[in-house]
Amino acid sequence: MVESAFPLNPWCMKEHALAFRIFRLLFPVVLLLGGATVALNSVNDLSAEYQTVLTLVPYLLALVAVPLGYSFNRSRVVLGALNLCAAYWLIQTGLQTSLDQPHTFVLFSLLAIVLPLNTGLIALYQERGLLTPLGAVRLAVVVLSYSLLYLLWQNQQLGYFLPELPMLMLEMLLHNHYMSQASAIAFLVAALPVIASLAFRRTHTDGALLASLLAAGILLIWFDQPLISALFVSAALITLCTSVVQNSHSMAFLDELTGIPARRALMDKLSTLGRRYTIAMMDVDHFKKFNDTYGHDIGDQVLRMVASQIRRVGGGGKAFRYGGEEFTVVFAGKTEEEALVYLEEVRERIANYPMHIRSQQRPQNNETGRQLRNMGDKSEVVSVTISIGLCEKDSEHADAMAVIKAADQALYAAKNHGRNCSVAAHNPPARKQRRSRTDFAN
Ligand code: GH3
Ligand code: MG
Ligand code: MG
Repeated sequence: MVESAFPLNPWCMKEHALAFRIFRLLFPVVLLLGGATVALNSVNDLSAEYQTVLTLVPYLLALVAVPLGYSFNRSRVVLGALNLCAAYWLIQTGLQTSLDQPHTFVLFSLLAIVLPLNTGLIALYQERGLLTPLGAVRLAVVVLSYSLLYLLWQNQQLGYFLPELPMLMLEMLLHNHYMSQASAIAFLVAALPVIASLAFRRTHTDGALLASLLAAGILLIWFDQPLISALFVSAALITLCTSVVQNSHSMAFLDELTGIPARRALMDKLSTLGRRYTIAMMDVDHFKKFNDTYGHDIGDQVLRMVASQIRRVGGGGKAFRYGGEEFTVVFAGKTEEEALVYLEEVRERIANYPMHIRSQQRPQNNETGRQLRNMGDKSEVVSVTISIGLCEKDSEHADAMAVIKAADQALYAAKNHGRNCSVAAHNPPARKQRRSRTDFAN
């Protein structure tokens, strides 16, 4: 198989883009859990009627989250909402009396283990649909775990287990708080898949599952606070609902291959532009030949590398994947001349980026592979180039689409001018640029 030493997408992002993405994932989590904490302090001032209404809110939110998750094919949202809702229902049904009674204490101890472990399991799952055999098994795990607890509680049998419980379930982690040591271990075990999924998948569902785990931990630790379960389960359910909307927004507006905003986002951006702006159209040179020589997978990696360089453009330029191997950069408030400096930086950076393409016959055996590498084998370094056409808005252009069209014509001129160069619509032809060391086109 052909392989490239170019790092795959997630790790070639700019650090601040990565930090921004993580911030976007965690922002609703912090906001909602913070809101629930603030609300907790004032909930005592509410009248009894309002407090009763508040206890119903988690059920209403679950009624929104479950169909929403199902209709957008987000099985983890559905399972996460059911997990929270079932735990909340058990809390409301069986745990509104003193935990001093053995019967209630055992229910609480078991619930404090089942809730985090279910959350951890749900974070592990891949989206495989709900109405499939696998989906049914996952659903059954959530439903049966709580049904079993409920049946044992209803038959007054849980108290008999108290002498059998290990010390870890009897001793609390902190004095005057309600989380047992066994529950704390369950939370730590569940945190591993939740955090790993957030780090690797980076979807809004993962952010919402982290919120669910944190909310569960908080409500169990401070279990004696009035209405704490209603507030924190509601906060977690809201993050699950918003994650569905945020995921759909990302799917519609971000390009899946390169991770940069897609054409739909460009159209939105165009509608916000003022009177002065410059639009650049960029196209990878001889990309078809590259695909034909090295294969589509390497072609995709080239596109990721090109996109990651283009998104680093300075001068406030915003990068989009226009389609195929074409990209667009929009500079709000900049002239052609001002934008050209930043575009040239990008063009040069891409042309000088060494793409390592390894031999097609990669040895299966590690030892042979090491020997071949030591013999300084096979690895080929090529560089990719792009051509750029840019145009600024002036009275000749009716709207942004007309500017794009003019930038496209300038791009065509850049291709005719020998490629790996930039041509400004109002200043053609651009001086021929220095070519890169190993221009693939040559
Ligand atoms: P020029 O320098 O004139 O732009 O030549 P070119 O070969 O780049 O231009 P052309 O438009 O003929 O080829 C574009 C190629 O881009 C054709 C298509 O196979 C490839 N392509 C488009 N989208 C993708 C993609 O998502 N992944 C990969 N690997 N290739 C793509
Ligand atoms: Mg093209
Ligand atoms: Mg091309």
